[in-house]
Amino acid sequence: MSRFWSDLATRLTPYVPGEQPRGTRLIKLNTNENPYGPAPGVLAALANISADQLRRYPDPESSELGAAWAAREGLQADQVFLGNGSDEVLAHAFAALLKHEQPLLFPDISYSFYPVWCELYQVPFQAVPLRDDFSVQVDDYNTPCGGIIIPNPNAPTGRIMPLDDVSRLLTAHRDCVVVIDEAYIDFGGHSATALVADHNNLLVIQTASKSRSMAGMRVGAAFGQRELIQGLVRVKDSFNSYPLDVVAQQAMLASLADEEWIDSCCKRVVATRERTASALQQMGFDVLPSAANFLFARHKNQHAADLFAALRERGVIVRYFNKPRIEQFLRISIGTDEDMDALLAALQDILA
Ligand code: PMP
Repeated sequence: MSRFWSDLATRLTPYVPGEQPRGTRLIKLNTNENPYGPAPGVLAALANISADQLRRYPDPESSELGAAWAAREGLQADQVFLGNGSDEVLAHAFAALLKHEQPLLFPDISYSFYPVWCELYQVPFQAVPLRDDFSVQVDDYNTPCGGIIIPNPNAPTGRIMPLDDVSRLLTAHRDCVVVIDEAYIDFGGHSATALVADHNNLLVIQTASKSRSMAGMRVGAAFGQRELIQGLVRVKDSFNSYPLDVVAQQAMLASLADEEWIDSCCKRVVATRERTASALQQMGFDVLPSAANFLFARHKNQHAADLFAALRERGVIVRYFNKPRIEQFLRISIGTDEDMDALLAALQDILA
């Protein structure tokens, strides 16, 4: 008898996150965390959580937070959906909005969780090759499809698609849902939330993990017109889950209250990114233009796997994807200036 679960373990290939080393003193540039920590008001809000707040169940709708985050994007409270990190929001989007007979399209080099969700939720998909310069071009998406998802800036390449192109994509695909995954948008892009009012097929995903330096808290959001948001709410309610706990709601509210901090933090990361990119180029790396908090770079004559191993031996951990077309690249998260100096010194040593 064939049993659905008998080959589940072999059929499902789980997403493999970047390593979180324990107890070792590594310079960790492998999971695109923000080195500066959340706005000071976030820590104060956490210190002020009361026993009474913890005693009660949280607001299942996270209404106050939803309204505040939507307002930041120029949207209404019923145009936002919150979740435990954008991964959870994305999972709900795959389950609720992206399953059709026609394939879901996404770039062949993009967030490696997408094919995992497709497998999990039985969503047929087709990966669309990036151009030779690793850019995403809207004209490559002119095939019949059941939906489109694009990280913008793309991960792990860091390349960004201009907002005009996002707009063209939305107009060309009025009948299907287009998800723009903006995990890294604050490091150099313009959010597609500005297009929500004119496009009922658009869902924009954001996270507190990167620019707000709150990856440990797990806060993410989707923005879109009410009908799409209601689809996500329906899935969440079916799991009877709370999107966010009391602590995360208070922390995120405090983060939204200090946009200046976020802004200056992102500017620091961008300045360090640009300085690191030039230094890497001088060492013989091709570096893709990045609008994110990481760089994607390949050395002209050294193998990425060897560089990855040699860096690790020297206490610097970056990300290496052993995948076709990008096996020569390293993805390097932007840390503090000191972190990046240590990376550059280790590379000098390796390449000497
Ligand atoms: N989308 C992209 C493109 C990402 O790189 C990440 C981070 N791994 C996520 C979504 C998920 O981030 P989080 O769940 O921390 O919000």
